[in-house]
Amino acid sequence: MKRIHIAGAGLAGLALGNALQASGVPTTIHEAGTLPRHRVCGEFICGRGATALQQLGLSRALDGALLHQSIHWYLKEKRILRSTLPLPAQGISRYLLDQRLAERFQALGGTLQLRSRLNSSKKTDGIIYCTGRKASDSNWIGLKFHCMNLITHADLELHLGENAYLGMSAIENGRVNVCALFKKRDELKANREDWMFTYLDACGLSTVRQRIAAAEIDPASYAGVAGINFSEPPDHASKHLRLGDAYSVIPPFTGNGMSIALESAEIAFPKCLAYANNRQSWDETVNQIQQACDTRFSRRLKAAKRLHPWISESKRQHTLATLSRLHLLPFRLLYKATH
Ligand SMILES: Cc1cc2nc3c(=O)[nH]c(=O)nc-3n(C[C@H](O)[C@H](O)[C@H](O)COP(=O)(O)OP(=O)(O)OC[C@H]3O[C@@H](n4cnc5c(N)ncnc54)[C@H](O)[C@@H]3O)c2cc1C
Repeated sequence: MKRIHIAGAGLAGLALGNALQASGVPTTIHEAGTLPRHRVCGEFICGRGATALQQLGLSRALDGALLHQSIHWYLKEKRILRSTLPLPAQGISRYLLDQRLAERFQALGGTLQLRSRLNSSKKTDGIIYCTGRKASDSNWIGLKFHCMNLITHADLELHLGENAYLGMSAIENGRVNVCALFKKRDELKANREDWMFTYLDACGLSTVRQRIAAAEIDPASYAGVAGINFSEPPDHASKHLRLGDAYSVIPPFTGNGMSIALESAEIAFPKCLAYANNRQSWDETVNQIQQACDTRFSRRLKAAKRLHPWISESKRQHTLATLSRLHLLPFRLLYKATH
């Protein structure tokens, strides 16, 4: 049996690593950072993510996740949409989910090497890159933290501001995850703890900022990331096998990035198993997985990328609000197109 090496212990890497190791494939996961850690994420898993976990034998990882179905959108302080998701989503922190998957992987005998960065300059058989978003010079930044004693009006509140949006939804232990995406503004200056509030004020989201400020924020849960790029199509030129965000990044308003990470692991698993068992070559394995990922994800990636400016740009947000007021916003149809 051949050993598989996975670069990146995010959701894609941990889910695939668990499934391979459980099937007897010796697997090493190299993680550049440490685990578990708080990550910038809405912590709202919707679409087929839970089914993918189930298919990989990992449904227990979602034990205790909150089921979410109602959704409200606000433009500044005005509610512009009230709807429900076709299927419930799961609310669970990345800290807990990653921790559970990492512990299970190690309990199965998998090798998890922390602070170990795999270099992707050389193409080597049996290495899978689950390395997350590529660094870019894009000017989108993401911020998040957890709050206690914050009452939400729906399972997911999405607040649209000027070149910004913020999501709030409950996770385990009575916490609410607050996560936002902002277009970077060089003129704004703040301490690490004040970035979220400074940006919310600058983007016209002072009302929701006041609600959050009145809650109890867990400073240990602060996380931030810069240079998020949503426009890159999947890159197959390097012939590296890339899964999850390393394959392609879907704009976060969809809440589908984690699902894509888990689904890509589900797609890759049987084909990597066949490679490890010497039933097919690495090149065949990579081609099959890339094709299956393209077939599964290209429609939703395209739809989400087209919709993103309507969620994030002020002028288009007003058109969105008008359409919603006139009951002309096909929310469930758009949801289906992006999941
Ligand atoms: C603001 C924002 C909000 C979001 N909200 C949601 C949401 O509500 N729902 C949702 O489903 N998705 C959401 N997402 C997207 C979601 O977080 C990602 O799609 C998901 O985390 C991708 O998982 P992954 O395993 O591909 O990558 P990651 O979880 O990013 O993991 C990649 C790992 O690889 C490691 N790594 C990188 N390079 C190397 C290397 N060379 N060698 C070894 N290790 C390496 C990194 O340290 C990291 O741990 C959001 C994203 C943003 C930015």
